[in-house]
Amino acid sequence: MRPIDKGKSPYSKISNYQEAEPYLNKRIGRYCSFCEMPIFHVPEVEHREGKASGGDLTAWENLLYGCKYCNTRKSQKIKAGEADKWIWPDKDNTFLAFTYTDGIPKVNEAYLKTVDAKVLEKAQGLYDGVGLGHYPKNDSDKDKRWQRRIVTLGIAENSRRIWLKMKDSEFKEDELKQIVTMATQTGFFSIWMMVFQDDSEVKRELIKAFPGTAEKCFDTNGCAKLYGGELE
Ligand SMILES: [Zn+2]
Repeated sequence: MRPIDKGKSPYSKISNYQEAEPYLNKRIGRYCSFCEMPIFHVPEVEHREGKASGGDLTAWENLLYGCKYCNTRKSQKIKAGEADKWIWPDKDNTFLAFTYTDGIPKVNEAYLKTVDAKVLEKAQGLYDGVGLGHYPKNDSDKDKRWQRRIVTLGIAENSRRIWLKMKDSEFKEDELKQIVTMATQTGFFSIWMMVFQDDSEVKRELIKAFPGTAEKCFDTNGCAKLYGGELE
């Protein structure tokens, strides 16, 4: 899950949370903060602490983007004062908390166990809470996150095949630009980072290209590193 840095609140007061949308768009780009899917429909401003459960309606710290699938599943699972039950992409290095082998998101149990059992529990809470690993049971299942993720995996793998042919040629810079354009259009930051895990040059460009990716979560080679929050 892409760790994000929203920065300080861009407003002192807004009258309703929808007014925060242009700021979220500018700071973190229109991707679901949980599943990383690009949001093409009307963006849903998501409240970490549920808006119908006493969570602050307009505080910048309480706002993220949610696609309708993650948002609907999360619903009011986290009430006012309960944010600490889960880890969060704007607070923790969530890149370390999940793996995406074969395009399937899983809790990174092996790693999180070495950090702290509580963190593992919180990551599992978030994973279950938004249904991150949900697999559609039949064609009538409207949840298209899984399908979109697998399509993106195919595009990313194909991009990598082309990259390996081009990276030592005069077309290298053009190909790098092409990869970044494809990635920001298809979304699923973590899928792209996984496919290019052995290529720090591409990873650095991906980190820069997705708005608001928390650069402090990665070293100069584009490898995840620890920072603050629960995963310290
Ligand atoms: Zn989502």
